[in-house]
Amino acid sequence: MHKKQTVLVFCAHSDDQIFGPGGTAAKYASQGDDVISIVFACGELTHPWLKRRIISEIRKNEAKDADRVIGGKDVLFLGINETEFLKEADSDWVKGKIEHMIRHYRPDKIFTHSKDDPHSAHRAVNKTVIDALEKTKYKCDTYAFDVWNPLNFRGRNEPKMYVNITDTFSLKIKALKCFKSQWVTMISLLWSVYLRALMNGLDAGCKYAERFYKIR
Ligand SMILES: [Zn+2]
Repeated sequence: MHKKQTVLVFCAHSDDQIFGPGGTAAKYASQGDDVISIVFACGELTHPWLKRRIISEIRKNEAKDADRVIGGKDVLFLGINETEFLKEADSDWVKGKIEHMIRHYRPDKIFTHSKDDPHSAHRAVNKTVIDALEKTKYKCDTYAFDVWNPLNFRGRNEPKMYVNITDTFSLKIKALKCFKSQWVTMISLLWSVYLRALMNGLDAGCKYAERFYKIR
């Protein structure tokens, strides 16, 4: 029998948890695991003509819709201001919050951005999560995902983990389509989501796969 696991996904933006490990999260959820996503930013920079509060509500609702599609248990928002992202991600308030979540949920697995991601906000989340794990001395399998870079990074020597997402790939796509306020960007990027899942699938010997690096 499958032992129920708790899986935490820490990410910078409200759609990273789907772009990165969305198929894997849906797979765990379908096995009965609790998947909880924690989003650092509230996404107000994407639509500067709308009031910050309004766009932040829209993006929260989209992320909740996407979470329902993948069968997640919850998606939580730290509401970090994107113009201050790097400073706030490194603040005692945010660090304390992440430490508290780790102690509270006692996750079996953690997924977060990789430390060499091209996006500085993604790297900042990685650092905050790793710092919190070190501070709390909490031990669990921790994996890094990539959001946009389809290519292998040179110099990465962490062990890879491929997850066969053939059965849940359609849920990942359906969840991505929940981000309607991002539709223009989303539609232009969907091909790369397919391509990446197919390329990882080739490596893993299945149709579609997601690839992670085990960082702890
Ligand atoms: Zn992001």
